[in-house]
Amino acid sequence: MSYFSDLGLAEPILRALEEKGYNDPTPIQRQAIPALLEGRDLLGIAQTGTGKTAAFMLPSLHRLAQESTGRYPQGCRMLVLSPTRELAAQIADNARAYARFLNLSVQTVFGGVPVSKQINALRRGVDILVATPGRLLDLIEQRALVLDHVGIFVLDEADQMMDLGFIKPLTRIANLLPRQRQSLFFSATMPDEIAQLGKRFITDPVKVEVAPQSTTAERVDQFATFIEQKEKQALLTLTLQKGLASGEIESCLVFTRTKHGADRVVRHLIAAGIEAAAIHGNKTQAQRTRALDGFRAGRIPVLVATDIAARGIDVPGVSAVFNFEIPNVPEQYVHRIGRTARAGRSGLAISYVAPDEKSYIRDIQRLTGVQLSPAPLPKDFVAQAARLPKPSRKAAGAEHSDERREGRGGNSNRRQRAKNSRPKRNPDARVTPRGERSEGQSRRQRRRPNRAKSQS
Ligand code: AMP
Repeated sequence: MSYFSDLGLAEPILRALEEKGYNDPTPIQRQAIPALLEGRDLLGIAQTGTGKTAAFMLPSLHRLAQESTGRYPQGCRMLVLSPTRELAAQIADNARAYARFLNLSVQTVFGGVPVSKQINALRRGVDILVATPGRLLDLIEQRALVLDHVGIFVLDEADQMMDLGFIKPLTRIANLLPRQRQSLFFSATMPDEIAQLGKRFITDPVKVEVAPQSTTAERVDQFATFIEQKEKQALLTLTLQKGLASGEIESCLVFTRTKHGADRVVRHLIAAGIEAAAIHGNKTQAQRTRALDGFRAGRIPVLVATDIAARGIDVPGVSAVFNFEIPNVPEQYVHRIGRTARAGRSGLAISYVAPDEKSYIRDIQRLTGVQLSPAPLPKDFVAQAARLPKPSRKAAGAEHSDERREGRGGNSNRRQRAKNSRPKRNPDARVTPRGERSEGQSRRQRRRPNRAKSQS
């Protein structure tokens, strides 16, 4: 057993960790911190939940605090790239907590919030900048930010960056970074294309891997219910009514494949008296923050999310994950169920499998080596389902039009669907990279044409 003090971190950082209640480093922290303190590059294969943020942030803070260089106007000394706004905000929050007793500034830049505030915040320069790639490049183009002084560069969740189609922005950013720097590259999985991307950023890295690739969280009990698509909503509502009332489920994440699907599930749950909120790319940043804060604080027990919006989010108390739709990329399943069973707790993952999703389950079982236990439909399911309230007429009307837009497998009216599903006023639209909006389909999914057929 080692303690943080054994790793050579400066006293103000140790004090902040004590305040946070961290006693011992996690395995990735034990492996990464000494090498990073020496200034080595790092290739980390680790998911969120392993303590990877502190693994890269603590030694970086130590090094930044030691250097006597000040801030550079419109510059930053450490740049962390994150695929999503939520993860960026979370990383920055952690950095601020760890840097509490240091004189280091932390700033975020991501879409969905006015760019002018970010331009102002950058004017005098910052120590640590946490950014999503689209807004970062936007600020560089507006001459509000330069990357000439980046001494530490972190690329987090590289596999999701690729899924979101960020390869071009990343390449542009790589070309703007100074050659002389420390680089850290993290990904939950390391297929060949990600490893190739890594080579553009890191040199002679120390490699740390905390969980074998694609390992399913061991403490998660995993079930599958085979069910028709149109019956899934009733089953979810009934299961949540029972689970929340008995305390078996305290808080849960429900994953849908599409943004409209997430909204529809929320409408049904609310009609049945279950507090729920949706989080996806069509929501404003304020809505996303409100939903996430409510969920974290326990006011909203059910958060319905698309993969992209939920990825990387750290909420320690999630007791269950529902796969309302099965991801057609098996690695995504591993990411989803990794949201539960955090911090030593046990967890529950329930997958609702429609007939056309059975092959996805086979792929998932092959990847994880875990057989999902069958969970039968409750007795009297049909009768109980018939008694469930429907969402209000107005909402039901909207739902109907959603149904048309999302028509499973239908290719007709695609342009109209795309038009309808576009948010009316997306403040982010000019600056948000393509991927932050397109939760329904990732690049990897598109590479599987047969599978992608049933996508909306
Ligand atoms: P991360 O993988 O960085 O998202 O971290 C997952 C969670 O573990 C976060 O809530 C951290 O605050 C927490 N955490 C990180 N390191 C430690 C530690 N050494 N001891 C206890 N909790 C930690």
